[in-house]
Amino acid sequence: MRIAIIGAGIAGACLASRLKHKYKVKVFEKSRGAGGRMATRRTDDWKVDHGAQFFTIRDELFAQLAEPLIRDGVIRNWRPRLAIFENDNWVLDEWNDEHYVASPSMNSLCKHLLESVEVHYLAKIDSIRGHHEHWELVSDQKDYGFFDLVINTLPAPQAVKILPNDCSFINDLSRVEMQPCLAFFVRLKEDVDLGWDAAIVKNHAVSWMAMNHSKPGRSQHIPAFVMHLESSFSADNFDRDMKPWCIETMASLCKIHPSQVSELHAHRWRYAKTSIAAQQLSYYDQKMGLAAVGDWCPGERVEGAVVSALDLLRKI
Ligand SMILES: Cc1cc2nc3c(=O)[nH]c(=O)nc-3n(C[C@H](O)[C@H](O)[C@H](O)COP(=O)(O)OP(=O)(O)OC[C@H]3O[C@@H](n4cnc5c(N)ncnc54)[C@H](O)[C@@H]3O)c2cc1C
Repeated sequence: MRIAIIGAGIAGACLASRLKHKYKVKVFEKSRGAGGRMATRRTDDWKVDHGAQFFTIRDELFAQLAEPLIRDGVIRNWRPRLAIFENDNWVLDEWNDEHYVASPSMNSLCKHLLESVEVHYLAKIDSIRGHHEHWELVSDQKDYGFFDLVINTLPAPQAVKILPNDCSFINDLSRVEMQPCLAFFVRLKEDVDLGWDAAIVKNHAVSWMAMNHSKPGRSQHIPAFVMHLESSFSADNFDRDMKPWCIETMASLCKIHPSQVSELHAHRWRYAKTSIAAQQLSYYDQKMGLAAVGDWCPGERVEGAVVSALDLLRKI
């Protein structure tokens, strides 16, 4: 069976790493590299995770998949000094269960899973054309041939745009709703001890802040600060230049003075988080040769994307 997987995020990478042993698998990714929303931005001498910050491994099948990766150091525990900021108050807290990061950067997990898989980068798929089990990927890049099964791992609102109209699960996917997130990542001139490494911010326009270099495997020499904004505030300000606001907020919330900032970058995530999830863990129309998975199936998060991918694997 010839399988096309669209998207090299964690769901696509997870599927490809398993299916490659049995089938002819090709992955198509519109960006330059793997990771999707498990994203890492890199400049010449600096890397920072500006998408997913950490993940949990509560599902038993995910735990089995992760075990060798933990042993090899591809996945590592992150035990930050965690703080909660609420009603103008900082309180130190602890997570109840283990939280993990990929090492040395969030996107390295997908890169690792995609080793020895045929991945086409800078391959934006515009639509899926054809009929039952004879699908062609439409792209202005080139002709990629025909596939018996096409697996969509895009966020649902993007997936519905490229799936054929007669796809049996397209209506389910169109009911999924996802919310944006504005993310900022900041290179600091020198390390600052804020008394915490990660902060959950409640009842505020900011939802999350972290010192990226506190994660295992990151360079300690170049301190990096990450800030994520809450969904509705992100939606209201999605197209605005929020960098001046970010500078002011860093100063007022965590006393990082503008003079301590060496570089500030922003990223607009249009589909960060699911507000209305799908009704199934994964979608598979065996007769048509079409499937769809992603974090938006079970709900959200990296673990959700893996659980959805593993659910589809059981069906194929
Ligand atoms: C700012 C932010 C913070 C987050 N924080 C956390 C966190 O702390 N913990 C956690 O567990 N989760 C977090 N998440 C959620 C987590 O990142 C996602 O749940 C998970 O990465 C989704 O994986 P996926 O494979 O389903 O989708 P994606 O990672 O979105 O993968 C889809 C891939 O498809 C590609 N693509 C899109 N359109 C096309 C096309 N037309 N043709 C080809 N390729 C295409 C994309 O480039 C992408 O690589 C966060 C997300 C964001 C944005």
